[in-house]
Amino acid sequence: MSLTVITHDAFARHPVPTGHPERPDRIRHVWQAIDDGFSHLPKLEAPEADNASIARVHGERYLDFIARQQPEDDLIALDPDTHMGRGSLEAGLRAAGGAVLAVDQVMNGATDRAFLAARPPGHHAEPDRPMGFCLFSSAAIAAQHARANHGLTRVAVLDFDVHHGNGTQAAFWDDGDLTFASSHQMPLYPGSGAAAETGCGNIHNAPMRHGDGGAEVLAAWRDHLLPQVRAAKPELIIISAGFDAHADDPLAGLTMQAHDFHDLTVMIRQLAEDVAEGRIVSLLEGGYDLAALKASVTAHLTALDDA
Ligand SMILES: [Zn+2]
Repeated sequence: MSLTVITHDAFARHPVPTGHPERPDRIRHVWQAIDDGFSHLPKLEAPEADNASIARVHGERYLDFIARQQPEDDLIALDPDTHMGRGSLEAGLRAAGGAVLAVDQVMNGATDRAFLAARPPGHHAEPDRPMGFCLFSSAAIAAQHARANHGLTRVAVLDFDVHHGNGTQAAFWDDGDLTFASSHQMPLYPGSGAAAETGCGNIHNAPMRHGDGGAEVLAAWRDHLLPQVRAAKPELIIISAGFDAHADDPLAGLTMQAHDFHDLTVMIRQLAEDVAEGRIVSLLEGGYDLAALKASVTAHLTALDDA
């Protein structure tokens, strides 16, 4: 059993306006967590995704559309939260490409589990538009790549970012072989994620209340979300690993601690070993308090790395 880390220097070169929470220091703190505790792990560089990988989720013309937005110098806003500057396109393409490489590594048997340390995040990007700090829907791109290139039929994305993964949900909405399970604070950005949003029976949302912490979130996964995922018999587990449900996060009001992310990851690993031959691809999403992000990533990787 093994864990591989995938990242790239380009993830520190996606610029954002001063004061923006999704800033380059985030990835530097994640790298510090990896250097401090996980320097023994194999590390690979994230390649840029090709158009075919992106088009499976976003359509043939989306990459051209995003590439045309990239400014020469200053920053531009694609929506009130989502910006591009010099370096953003490369970072976005490597975030998507790193997710694809993570699938390849796991499916080829080079590793049992892979963690992609990337920014920008991906789970808010919808099939036809960038949104909420996200340019490309990395988790959905990874799932579709696993089906197109590795012969899988059923893939599940498990999303414990504090915000609802509207982009992944939209990409999976009417495909019963793709399962999406999410815990998230509600009401909160982006506004979706009600329990009544069920797709074709493949979408499982567990909205949490302001103030809920590890006990409530882990109970939602143990009692509701993981049994639904287990019943779907996914052949690969993809985690949208956001750490902004931490108590110290400035963007939300849940009260998880770093050790809760460890315990939740252990539960997900057990499910993966039961139904998906242990295959896990974990993709970094949010987490905006730098110390909490570092501690939570350390906890998550500890659970993924343990033999
Ligand atoms: Zn988030």
